[in-house]
Amino acid sequence: MSRDPRYDILFEPVRIGPVTARNRFYQVPHCNGMGWRDPSALAAMRGMKAEGGWAVVCTEMTEIHPTADVTPYVELRLWSDDDIPMHRRITEKIHEHNSLAGIELCHSGYTAVNLWSREIPFAPSAMPAASYFNDPVQARAMDKQDIRNLRRAHTAAALRSRAAGYDLVYVYAGHGLGIFQHFLSRATNFRADEYGGSLENRARLLREVIEETKEAVGDRCAVPVRIAMNEFLGADGLEPAEVEDAIAMMAEMPDLWDLSLSSWAKDSQTSRFSEEGFQEPYIKGVKKLTTKPVVGVGRYTSPDTMVRVIKQGIMDMIGAARPSIADPFLPKKIEEGRLDDIRECIGCNVCVTGDYTMSPIRCTQNPSMGEEWRRGWHPEKIRQAEGARKILVVGAGPSGLEAARALGQRGYEVTVAEAASEAGGRVARECKLPGLAAWGRVRDWRMLQINKLPNVSLYLESQMTEGTIAEFEADHVVIATGSSWRRDGIARHHSRPIQIDPAADVLTPDDIMDGRRPKNKSIVIFDDDHYYMGGVIAELLRKEDCDVTLVTPSYLVSSFTKASLEQSAIQTSLLKLGVEIVANTAVQEISADHVDLSCVFTGNIQKRGSSSLVLVTSRYPKDELFHSFAIKTSSTTRIGDCYSPGTIAAAVHSGRKFAEDFGAPPKDFLEMPYRREVTRLS
Ligand code: ADP
Ligand code: SF4
Repeated sequence: MSRDPRYDILFEPVRIGPVTARNRFYQVPHCNGMGWRDPSALAAMRGMKAEGGWAVVCTEMTEIHPTADVTPYVELRLWSDDDIPMHRRITEKIHEHNSLAGIELCHSGYTAVNLWSREIPFAPSAMPAASYFNDPVQARAMDKQDIRNLRRAHTAAALRSRAAGYDLVYVYAGHGLGIFQHFLSRATNFRADEYGGSLENRARLLREVIEETKEAVGDRCAVPVRIAMNEFLGADGLEPAEVEDAIAMMAEMPDLWDLSLSSWAKDSQTSRFSEEGFQEPYIKGVKKLTTKPVVGVGRYTSPDTMVRVIKQGIMDMIGAARPSIADPFLPKKIEEGRLDDIRECIGCNVCVTGDYTMSPIRCTQNPSMGEEWRRGWHPEKIRQAEGARKILVVGAGPSGLEAARALGQRGYEVTVAEAASEAGGRVARECKLPGLAAWGRVRDWRMLQINKLPNVSLYLESQMTEGTIAEFEADHVVIATGSSWRRDGIARHHSRPIQIDPAADVLTPDDIMDGRRPKNKSIVIFDDDHYYMGGVIAELLRKEDCDVTLVTPSYLVSSFTKASLEQSAIQTSLLKLGVEIVANTAVQEISADHVDLSCVFTGNIQKRGSSSLVLVTSRYPKDELFHSFAIKTSSTTRIGDCYSPGTIAAAVHSGRKFAEDFGAPPKDFLEMPYRREVTRLS
């Protein structure tokens, strides 16, 4: 197949200062939780994007100096020449596939707490350091010598970047994380000297650094500027009109403008809160200010939309972080006319949780993300089957579908038996909940791939039992039967069942997804799960006009979603909908006519009148079939939620892992399950 001529425009080369990108696909800098700790894994991941056709592939934010130390987060470092070989490995991997390598140099100012280096953070003006834990650290105001030193450090890092082989060297003023934004914004710059006050003064440092970076490396490297178009603080911070004025002042100085929103949570909005192209209103005014290429993001996965934004003059290159994570081969698939093979990002931000938990990046749609080097997984390829084997997969949820797809790709004869009348398991159910429609893509992409494989057959409405599995006479049986929500209240707060009066009306998320509704209009949701489900059910029931109280032992609603950048949006939207939030509290006892709530600190009890309850606590693996059948044969494996309930991303990964490992010599428990990079002693 070849590319549809409608998409030719996406494959035009773009000149960026002294370098030329071979097409308009631009992987903007994005974090990945690997950084300086896992450089070979990071290099392989970036190389994969280049192999998949992204003309520009950038690093994440890279600390330029020990005063820019963002510990505990693991980003790249370029503090001294010692860091250059690590970066050279990255640029080599990107260059192997003729893509341009970009580096996002970063000084994080007051958002670098310097826990590792123990340097005192600095900022345009004295202020508390911004950090996840609200560390008791303050940033000091920079004097003129500090400003000169910062400029010198940036130039030194730019020269090291060039020596490491980068083709684009960023000046970063985005996401509230780059110090040049801190100078530019009246929210963080209260200086009275020539670096503060008027916009011209606040932009002075950014202008100086662009000039100096160009002077240092501009002969060979392009110098893009990444800038935040809006801080969402109203007139107290940066707004598009003022940022446009700043861009107009410096319009032709950088080689490219890379536009984003601030904070990161506003920039990487999830599909629950925004659509593809959500940044267009903020960035559409920039192209008329400059002749330099403009890059923007907005979770673009549709080539028609990409063509539209280029033809409408909103941007010159399609910037992407998440779409390139979910499908590193997105450009190649458009080029080869294989649009239905595109694995579209679902906008869940599980990728971001890797960075927030300082662990290698993971992706719900692309289980090979972060596994390219350590497990040798490829997003598009898998080794061929070792001999002919007949495999039965029981359950067509995300784990079963991914296992069947990948085993089918290997060439095995695979049959999937699913009890329900539609495939997708929990994804098919959860994507009907408010805001989660895009999650259906996890099923849709896999079903499409399975339908293309003649050696994989899927049967719906096929409830399997010990007997029917045995009759099937498979060489291997994969049990992917999922999980169900507990009804007894056991999760993190309660290790023993809550006392529940049999006359009380108590439901679980499964009941809600099955269409059952509480009997009372007044509902207490007890969320001891802390991910999205409690908040989503609160939204659903509130929109159905119930009086909803969400009780959580945590101090925040859906507290894990801090790591997916959604927590603030979730709590804000629930409060605006009129959901009552009772934090630091647990459901203690459920009677027919009242509920006892207890404070997690004092144990003080508060009684609530007649309510229905929804318990969003933890899940049981549905593993009865595994246990009954596995007794008869050792050729049975359980995967996904049936093995241990977790995220959809974990279920997909589990399916892929089974398919990758199948047929390979078994590894002893004491053997390393994958490659890791161990620092040699110096
Ligand atoms: P996972 O996240 O591990 O993929 P899910 O809960 O999403 O798990 O999917 C499990 C699927 O298995 C569901 O679609 C369910 O209908 C199906 N299933 C459960 N038990 C059986 C069974 N005995 N026979 C066939 N399908 C089953
Ligand atoms: Fe998209 Fe979710 Fe994958 Fe991130 S983890 S790239 S948001 S599908």
